[in-house]
Amino acid sequence: MPLDKILLQSLTSSVRRFVDERLIPEEMRVSRADAIPEATVEEMRRLGLFGLSVPEVYGGLGLSMEEEVSVMLELGRASPAFRSLIATNVGIGSQGIVIDGTEEQKQRFLPPIASGEIIASFALTEPEVGSDAASVRTTARREGDVYYLKGTKRFITNAPRAGLFTVMARTDPSKPGASGVSAFIVEAGSPGLSIGKPEHKMGQQGSHVADVIFDDCPVPAANLIGGVEGRGFRTAMKVLDRGRVGIAAACVGFAERILDEMVAYAASRRQFGSPIAEFQLVQAMVADSRTEAYAARCMVLETARAKDGGLNIGTEASCCKLFASEMVGRVADRNVQIHGGSGYISDYAAERHYRDVRLYRIYEGTSEIQRLKIGRDTVRAANVS
Ligand SMILES: Cc1cc2nc3c(=O)[nH]c(=O)nc-3n(C[C@H](O)[C@H](O)[C@H](O)COP(=O)(O)OP(=O)(O)OC[C@H]3O[C@@H](n4cnc5c(N)ncnc54)[C@H](O)[C@@H]3O)c2cc1C
Repeated sequence: MPLDKILLQSLTSSVRRFVDERLIPEEMRVSRADAIPEATVEEMRRLGLFGLSVPEVYGGLGLSMEEEVSVMLELGRASPAFRSLIATNVGIGSQGIVIDGTEEQKQRFLPPIASGEIIASFALTEPEVGSDAASVRTTARREGDVYYLKGTKRFITNAPRAGLFTVMARTDPSKPGASGVSAFIVEAGSPGLSIGKPEHKMGQQGSHVADVIFDDCPVPAANLIGGVEGRGFRTAMKVLDRGRVGIAAACVGFAERILDEMVAYAASRRQFGSPIAEFQLVQAMVADSRTEAYAARCMVLETARAKDGGLNIGTEASCCKLFASEMVGRVADRNVQIHGGSGYISDYAAERHYRDVRLYRIYEGTSEIQRLKIGRDTVRAANVS
């Protein structure tokens, strides 16, 4: 077997063990305390989880998309709050620099992101700008070698602990759409940068989101990603293509975990003198869940391989994100149903899973936005008009 295959297998089995022995047993405590213990964060650093997608020359593991997906299928089995902590470093927070950054930016910022020494967040959404992401209102005004950022970013994952933000801001107010937007690397602690109070969320306790406010925050021109204005929106979209495949893989991992739990519960719970697992209406819920999780697994792996083969996977990434996030919602819902009344009680994990997975259909592009993209791309490719 080639060395990289052996190393990948050893990484995925280490992550599987870590999830089973350390993360899953800790989930309830993390959820109740709304915090991941520092010792666990340190273990995640030691496993290299923060640097999965950062190239080896900058201190990461440099995994291909298929390899990253293999790790996410395992890590995704744990509560999504754990994935959320590393996800911005692996995906949306770092990839702008990896894909479009200058050599200097890569050398300076990627090593601490890869090691997990700093957390990198991605700041696109604003109070008035969500799905219509090209209408960013935060401005970046240039004076000499400095840009001054002004505006508010909303719901920014990991903002309270971030050391660095990839921020989309409008450098050309005369261009209202995507071409007026640029991407910046902004370091925490910069003057004029402040973080709002963490939001109270429906689920994924232990992972935090907050506003990021820029009040004439000075950012050196050297931190303009790629060194060219007007490319920020394109950078953001490339980052999201990759991120959507990663999220879809996490959805598959979690669905497979929930499937194991629903079957274990159905085997242990007895009604009418038999385990409920023997009732065909219960088996139908198990069968649908297994089939859909399997379909999503195949989609995600196929898309990851296509990306590694150099193909443009923008549409397929949206197909994966749409199907896998909706699929895990259905699986979590059936799990509550199979648990009966216990599924509604917060002492059981089923209730928490149900709340935790809801977010997957909203962030990094809602299901509606994925459908719009898939529909538009498909019709355009058919050249119908
Ligand atoms: C916990 C959490 C973490 C997040 N993390 C980040 C982060 O790290 N960085 C970041 O930048 N953002 C982040 N977000 C923001 C997230 O990406 C947005 O909330 C999401 O893109 C939707 O935008 P919105 O909330 O403004 O909803 P809106 O865009 O206002 O949408 C509201 C509803 O209208 C629908 N809709 C909108 N436009 C259309 C249309 N043209 N056709 C049909 N339906 C439409 C949407 O699908 C949705 O159902 C996070 C959000 C949450 C809740």
